[in-house]
Amino acid sequence: MAIEVEKPSFYESALKQFDLAADILSLPPDLRMVLRMPKRELTVNFPVRMDDGSVKMYTGYRVQHNMNAGPAKGGIRYSPEVSLDEVRALAMLMTWKCAVLGIPYGGAKGGVIVDRRLLSRMELERLTRRYATEISVIIGPDLDIPAPDVNTDGQVMAWIMDTLSMHHGRNVPAVVTGKPIAIGGSRGRVEATGRGVYIVAREAAKHENIPFEGAKVVIQGFGNVGSVSAKLLHEAGCKIIGLSDIYGAIYDPNGINIPLALQYIKEHGKLSGLPGSQDINNDQLLEIPCDILIPAAIEGVLHRNNAEKVSAKLIVEAANGPTTPEADVIFERRRIPVIPDILTNAGGVTVSYFEWVQDRENFFWSEKRVNDQLEEMMADSIKNVFSRADTMNISMRMAAYVVAVSRVAEATEFRGIYP
Ligand code: GLU
Repeated sequence: MAIEVEKPSFYESALKQFDLAADILSLPPDLRMVLRMPKRELTVNFPVRMDDGSVKMYTGYRVQHNMNAGPAKGGIRYSPEVSLDEVRALAMLMTWKCAVLGIPYGGAKGGVIVDRRLLSRMELERLTRRYATEISVIIGPDLDIPAPDVNTDGQVMAWIMDTLSMHHGRNVPAVVTGKPIAIGGSRGRVEATGRGVYIVAREAAKHENIPFEGAKVVIQGFGNVGSVSAKLLHEAGCKIIGLSDIYGAIYDPNGINIPLALQYIKEHGKLSGLPGSQDINNDQLLEIPCDILIPAAIEGVLHRNNAEKVSAKLIVEAANGPTTPEADVIFERRRIPVIPDILTNAGGVTVSYFEWVQDRENFFWSEKRVNDQLEEMMADSIKNVFSRADTMNISMRMAAYVVAVSRVAEATEFRGIYP
């Protein structure tokens, strides 16, 4: 039986990680106070007409954490688990993520408390358009630019873009990223987060002297991020021995056939039952002995109750916030390097930045240009973070935070306090 784990506040965890970095940087108390708090938080309660004519009330949020380096940027998620605490934490992580990559954005996040699977397509569209209208008072190409996140996609972004464009009476493509290419999206954006995860896993394996070809990899999550990462890692010769989706997990010590898994999930809606693999549960998945463990689902999955049982040589955080601060301490003691989310999954927001630039210039890049520039920006940031970790003898997370927080602190100090 799985142990019941009390869910700690995600925002508290994010603050704890920030405080540790602020200590390393000896950040002055005033500056620390400013950077700890979100600049703006919007809660919206709104009605949606259901297909049967009834009306349901929904609650959504948009939080902007820091906007000193540029307009706020971050995804919108649809999930029954969404809370203000979660959105606050994720907005703060976006600030650091953009800063590690040196992208001129601040951090934001949004979410609606809803189980997308229970809505028809028409209901999803009405909910999206109404939520977009409710948050339209604080989003815009120079203000705050949403993107896809858990359970949202290009279609949802298209409805947001269309809604805002209708309000303005003209096309406003740069108000969201992760749009379909037909309406101003970027080539390579759908795969960007997974591609970034692949680049980081490859470089981290090199840094840890783990032979990449033939490396045994376990991936939790087979959504947009997990599936693209799995595909690219498989193509590079890694052996994906464990994989999961929201329904369960599968294991194959000889390596899962990823193209087959992608086909199977399209036909069956889940991974369970994939020929040649053994069905296991999610707890077992995280404990499989492997070279690289990639949590690519949601926050808080590696915690104090299972961190001792993890049997990986390297953890690469594709999800946002998958490791709690307590688990971080355990992994540090056990000398298991954790490559942090704010670096690992930054490929998504990096290509979002490229999309925004392309929208504003009305000039669209080839997929090769997008991927080359992504590779270059990720490689620079990885090098920067790894060398910071080595020279300062700190964890990869702290190294990434030191890079990010010092950049945001510098921008915040230069701007000063108004009035
Ligand atoms: N939702 C993604 C993230 O957590 C992408 C955000 C963006 O592109 O703005 O990084």
